[in-house]
Amino acid sequence: MRWDDMRESGNVEDERSSSGFGGGGLRLGIGGVVLAIVVGLLVGKSPMEILGMVMQFSGHQPVATQRGPIAATDNDQSKRFVAHVLGDTEDTWGKLFQESGEQYRPPKLVLFRNAVQSGCGQASSAVGPFYCPADSKVYLDLGFFDELHKRFGAPGDFAAAYVVAHEVGHHVQNLMGISDKVHRAEQGKSKATANALSVKLELQADCFAGVWGHYAQARGLVDRNDMEQALTAANAIGDDTLQRNAGRNVAPDSFTHGSSEQRMHWFRTGFESGRVKDCNTFSRNAAS
Ligand SMILES: [Zn+2]
Repeated sequence: MRWDDMRESGNVEDERSSSGFGGGGLRLGIGGVVLAIVVGLLVGKSPMEILGMVMQFSGHQPVATQRGPIAATDNDQSKRFVAHVLGDTEDTWGKLFQESGEQYRPPKLVLFRNAVQSGCGQASSAVGPFYCPADSKVYLDLGFFDELHKRFGAPGDFAAAYVVAHEVGHHVQNLMGISDKVHRAEQGKSKATANALSVKLELQADCFAGVWGHYAQARGLVDRNDMEQALTAANAIGDDTLQRNAGRNVAPDSFTHGSSEQRMHWFRTGFESGRVKDCNTFSRNAAS
């Protein structure tokens, strides 16, 4: 992946030196992290709500651990990487919106460490990367990329880029009014129905990430091997895989992002076609 050749975005806000939670920061126990990541990518719920769910699911009390103060150069390579990938999503979505007579307003991406105050409430890194529709910002602790690599065996730049592009996908849904529509439809529905709708929203974000990948490939910035990396990531962070790895029975009703197979299917769909309209995960005929 030639991320250095992508345009660097000016929309990255570095809040890594200001620490939330009085400098301590909450981290879940190791067993909780796996589930935290499933829920962490979830959109439309406040991070505190997500955090509450994580505690509930994992049965883990938060363990206060602390990572030391960061040096000026710490993670700077990762920061540059994120800025370039974000810039590329801006170019691609800017063009796609323009083609349909709309204007793309790019999201800010906030880098934080341990904990952060977002427009959706205070959140710990344990929830994983997330998008907050209230302030149109993507929140990311760079430690997640290590997690992706070490714990989920999904190494490589493109796997990390896929995570960024997925969160940007939620921003696109927000701009298109899709998230609002879905959240309204979820009101008063059973938990299983609401979860099913959330899954479709998540799978569409995967498909949108694929659409971005399609144009990055067209410009020679990523190749098929990169896509395989993203599929490895999608495979590793499917709900069924996470549940199985966490020693739980697979319970589709509780899926929040979709199975590994679904995530791979929709990412691939977006990547192959590059068309937003092919990302209709809500269609009755959608192979979901
Ligand atoms: Zn998501």
